[in-house]
Amino acid sequence: MAATILDGNKIAAEIRAEVAAGVKTMAAAGVRPGLAVVLVGHNPASEIYVRGKVKSSEEVGLHSEKHTPPESVSTDELLRLIADLNRRDEIDGILVQLPLPPQVDSKRVLLAVDPAKDVDGFHPMNVGFLSTQRPGLVPCTPAGIMEILKRSHILIAGQEAVVVGRSDIVGKPTAMLLINANATVTICHSKTRDLPGVCRRADILVAAIGRAGMITRDFVKPGATVIDVGMNQVTTRTEFERLFAGNAKREEAFRAKGSTLVGDVHPQVAMVAGAITPVPGGVGPLTIAMLMANAVRAARLRRGVPEFSKA
Ligand code: NDP
Repeated sequence: MAATILDGNKIAAEIRAEVAAGVKTMAAAGVRPGLAVVLVGHNPASEIYVRGKVKSSEEVGLHSEKHTPPESVSTDELLRLIADLNRRDEIDGILVQLPLPPQVDSKRVLLAVDPAKDVDGFHPMNVGFLSTQRPGLVPCTPAGIMEILKRSHILIAGQEAVVVGRSDIVGKPTAMLLINANATVTICHSKTRDLPGVCRRADILVAAIGRAGMITRDFVKPGATVIDVGMNQVTTRTEFERLFAGNAKREEAFRAKGSTLVGDVHPQVAMVAGAITPVPGGVGPLTIAMLMANAVRAARLRRGVPEFSKA
C-alpha cells in the first residue's frame, strides 16, 4: 500500500495561522515582535531564502527589516551591526543568512548574536538549553520535523528513530528533540557500518544527508515513517532516470527546466513506508513557518509574555 503523504504545506499553513493569531494578541497588548534578517552580498540562493523569510514575516504581522551589508564587509563591521541589533529593544529575532563570505569569521558573528534573539537556535547556549530540556530557541528545520510528526499523530515515545546526518543544523538537534520526546535514537553518518541495516530498524527514519535519493527501499522497514529533509537538484538525465523513470509529471518539469528537486529518499520508498514527507512540499515549508514561530517565541520569552498557542 502506498504511504500516507505528510503534507508540509498544510501543516506550515496551520502554524503560520497560529503565529499570526499570536502576533495579533501581542499587538493588542502593545508589543509587535520584530525580526531582523542580515543578508551579506548577492548570493542568489540566499537572496531567494531571505525574500521568502521577509514575505512570511510580513504575512504573519511581524515587524521585519532586512540589513544588506556588501560582499566586502569585514568581521568587525558585521559584529557592530549585530551589537546594534542586540541592543535594540524592538528587535526580538536576529537571523544571519549563511553562508557568509570567506573573509568573515562566521563562528564569531554567530556567537555574537544575543542567545535570546537567536531565532535560528544555533548559539551554543540554545544548543545547551535543548540538550538539557530548558526553554530556549530550537533550530527551525528540526522543530518543523517534530511538528510534522506530532500534528500527523505519529507515535514517537518508545519508538526506534534513526537520524541519518549529524550536522549541527539538522541531524544533531533533530536527534536531541526525538530523545526529548522519548524515542530511542540512533544517529548515523558517513562512517556508519551497514547503514541500510541500521535504517531498517527505524520506526521513524529521518534523512538529512544531502545526497539525491540515497535512501532506497531496502533501507526502510515496511510501514515506517520517513522524513526526507534533503533538497537536491537533479540535473543529469542518468540521475533523473534512476529516480523518476516513468513519472510523466516530473519528466515534463525536467524537460522544461532542465532540473528537478529531489530529497535524500528515493521516490520508490513511498511504496514501502507507512507515511512519508514529499519533496518539495514536506519539511521545506516548515522551516520558514518555524522561523516565524521562533520570532514570536523569542519575543514572548524575552518580554515575559505568556504562551498563547501551540506555536
Ligand atoms: P551537511 O552536509 O552539513 O551534513 C550531511 C550529513 O550527512 C553529515 O553528517 C554526513 O556525515 C552525512 N552523510 C553524507 N554522506 C553520507 C553517506 N554516504 N552515508 C551516511 N551519511 C552521510 O548537511 P545538512 O545537515 O545541512 O543538510 C542535509 C540536507 O538537508 C541537504 O540536502 C540540505 O539541502 C537539506 N536541508 C533542507 C532544509 C529544509 O528546509 N528542507 C534545511 C536544511 C538542510 P559526516 O558527518 O560523517 O560527514
